[in-house]
Amino acid sequence: MQQPRHRIRRHRHPIALAGATALVIAVMATASSNLPAPSRASAGPSAAAEDSPLGACRITAAMGVQMSEGMPTAPGYARSTGRIKALNLMIDFSDAPGSGTAEERLAEFFPQTSQWFRTSSYGRLTYLPEAPVKGWLRMPLPFAEYGIERGSPYEPGYRDLVKDLVATADPKVDFSAYDLVNVLVTPNAGPSALDTVLSVTFSANEDAPYADGVPLANTSFVYSRQDDGSGSYVETGYRVLPHENGHVFGLPDLYTMEGGGSVGHWDIMSEDWGANNDFLGWHKWKLGWLDNEQIDCADRTGTSEHTLGPLATEGGTKLAFIPLSAETGYAVEVRTPDGNDAAVCRPGVLIYKVSSDVDTGQGPVSVADSTQDSGGCTRQPNVHAELSDAPFRPGETFTDRANGIRISVLGKGTDDNYRVRVTRP
Ligand SMILES: [Zn+2]
Repeated sequence: MQQPRHRIRRHRHPIALAGATALVIAVMATASSNLPAPSRASAGPSAAAEDSPLGACRITAAMGVQMSEGMPTAPGYARSTGRIKALNLMIDFSDAPGSGTAEERLAEFFPQTSQWFRTSSYGRLTYLPEAPVKGWLRMPLPFAEYGIERGSPYEPGYRDLVKDLVATADPKVDFSAYDLVNVLVTPNAGPSALDTVLSVTFSANEDAPYADGVPLANTSFVYSRQDDGSGSYVETGYRVLPHENGHVFGLPDLYTMEGGGSVGHWDIMSEDWGANNDFLGWHKWKLGWLDNEQIDCADRTGTSEHTLGPLATEGGTKLAFIPLSAETGYAVEVRTPDGNDAAVCRPGVLIYKVSSDVDTGQGPVSVADSTQDSGGCTRQPNVHAELSDAPFRPGETFTDRANGIRISVLGKGTDDNYRVRVTRP
């Protein structure tokens, strides 16, 4: 099937981390409602960059960037390790009465979303979905009256909707018991996702309405169905939710106004239609799913060699990072068709530039293509074709002449381990 024409999505993330008091409230709201599970994670929102031996590789967020790839992730987002409780509310409207049952709507996303996070996080994120209200929650106004369109800001439509949602659900829901909220809208409200994707997340939004003493600061809204007609919806349609929840954990959009040409199908924050895909290794480190010990920091002048195992399998060295500045660097990782990475058609060494001073949707990550203008190796629908064969194979070298960087793939060993040589000034 032809790819949908209008897949570029505008997610809005009104962060505006203005008041320290509000920040503390947001963080405490998360902390107080959960007992953090034991975790070996060394990155993630609360990690201290200063005492890390990988300091030069932990590029930090730049001032004025709303949603940054830098570490650590700003406060206010949901914790990304341990047991995370997700509140799911299925809503409908008088002008869009629930299509099917609310439990059927919930079942479009679970248990797949929980499994996706378990696989991607190597078991470090236990995602617990709950739906204390089994039926549709009817909003007091017709959908049309909220004025929600693609790219709508929080004010006024979403604030009105969240207020109404809280008023309707509060008798049956203890909002303080959850780390994040998924609002699963009846699929007949608003346009088809083939035409316009409305799904959106408002994260670290401490100005959101309160319920049970906590702000609804990390809330994802999912509309319509991402059904491209290729027959894969039942298997892959849930993937909009892990994408939206990625924002709740502080990750930016990697697609740009031009579409998925920066990162292709190598991260679900770039493409969440079509075949399953994973997060980049950078994101897994940022989320606390990779330990510092699993990162090789190539910050010294000269040549260094690194042995990297497949990102999809647990344990071992997963990522080499070559810092260029306080805000940029190259990440190197091995991608194979394992785990969540269903679409990998040319396994090998993926090389990409991370820029913590580039905002969400502006291209904070760009993948280097080992085979430019090849047309790619994938035949799957909704997988960015050109970058599908981007990984470097043994004998191939990536060169950044301006910065004097060379990254060569020396060979492939057992268990899909790859040896990589980095040369830097
Ligand atoms: Zn997004």
